[in-house]
Amino acid sequence: MQFHNPEQALEQCSRTLGEHGGVAPSISRSSTFVVDDPESMAALFSGEREDGFLYSRSFNPTVNVLCRSLAALEATEAAMGTASGMAAIATTLLQLCRHGDHIVASDTIYGGSHALLETLLPQLNITTTFVDSSDPAAVEAAITPHTRVIYSETMGNPTLRIADIRALATVAHDHGLQLVVDNTFSPVVVTPALLGADVVVYSLTKFINGASDLIAGAICGSEAFIRELMDLHSGRIMLTGPTMDPRVAFDIHQRLPHLPLRMREHGRRAMAMAELLEDLGLTVRYPGLASHPQHQLFAGMVNQGYGYGGMLTLDCGSRGQAEELMRVLQNEEQFGLLAVSLGYFDTLISCSSASTSSEIGELDQQKMGLAPGLLRLAVGYTGSLEGRLHQLQRAVEKVLAVSV
Ligand SMILES: *Cc1c(COP(=O)(O)O)cnc(C)c1O
Repeated sequence: MQFHNPEQALEQCSRTLGEHGGVAPSISRSSTFVVDDPESMAALFSGEREDGFLYSRSFNPTVNVLCRSLAALEATEAAMGTASGMAAIATTLLQLCRHGDHIVASDTIYGGSHALLETLLPQLNITTTFVDSSDPAAVEAAITPHTRVIYSETMGNPTLRIADIRALATVAHDHGLQLVVDNTFSPVVVTPALLGADVVVYSLTKFINGASDLIAGAICGSEAFIRELMDLHSGRIMLTGPTMDPRVAFDIHQRLPHLPLRMREHGRRAMAMAELLEDLGLTVRYPGLASHPQHQLFAGMVNQGYGYGGMLTLDCGSRGQAEELMRVLQNEEQFGLLAVSLGYFDTLISCSSASTSSEIGELDQQKMGLAPGLLRLAVGYTGSLEGRLHQLQRAVEKVLAVSV
């Protein structure tokens, strides 16, 4: 098994000091850059030379600083920042697929990605078959002569089903396809490129930024693929334009050094809460629990020492019970905040069927195992863990009528 130490990878990535020796890199906000002479301008535009900056929709020094760190973290040759996670996903799929092409995708993915694949891309005659991506045989059976891409999340949103990335990579490469993995739920914990993923996409909005104060995304892959995305004539990022702002790149870059610490703590607390809920006899799902259907698989995929991530779900039986529990957790116990998204320092709680997965039809929700009373907890790390466990226990005892 390949060993990856994300902390070491980040640490060994070349440091960029700021102007005047600043310990933080400088922010290069220029949209356009001066070149030495007319020949240089022509050579930079033709791609004959790559040693300078021209215009920030293509490349920007501060965005490059972040991208170098992301590539190191993900063990890919290169990375590119985007304006959002959806921009990363959409431009990646548009780059890999043409009119008439086909995608095999996991049926358990983020609502926006599901809508992109189910509704928007078919309007461009790029179609998708949705399957259970934890079943490589089902994925293989869905491949057609037109298939170009296998698309999955490492940990499916919101059911936390785990994709067997190694097996999916084997299926993809046996058929000459690209495996694209959305690793938004498990940065540092899993490094999909080392398990065989060709392209790793992220919503940096979540754990990687960690402060719920900006929207951003990234695409990590080969040098050649990033170059294609930025091609002057056909690059999907270059020509649709969802590039990253240098100020956003700077903010995220300054939060990368403590990402491993944060992931470890998100994971430690999520594990403790999952164990508590399981002990109370509740229907909890967390990839760190032995009761999770793909626990063994996941344990063989994670980088050692970072836990199993910060996401857990609790099936409250009905939408009404889920909503009552959310109300008590936020308004009576101050346990966390009723909000979508994840990766914040406070715990964020949402009812998936009525929020981030509401784009997915009721039947498809049933098929992917998304119960109407499923609460998603994105576990934070503020407050004492002991205090949080007490708050959680009081709330579930009150609302779900469990007795210890
Ligand atoms: C939030 C999210 C996205 C979309 O990212 P944005 O930054 O909101 O565009 C994609 N995939 C997953 C798994 C997400 O949680």
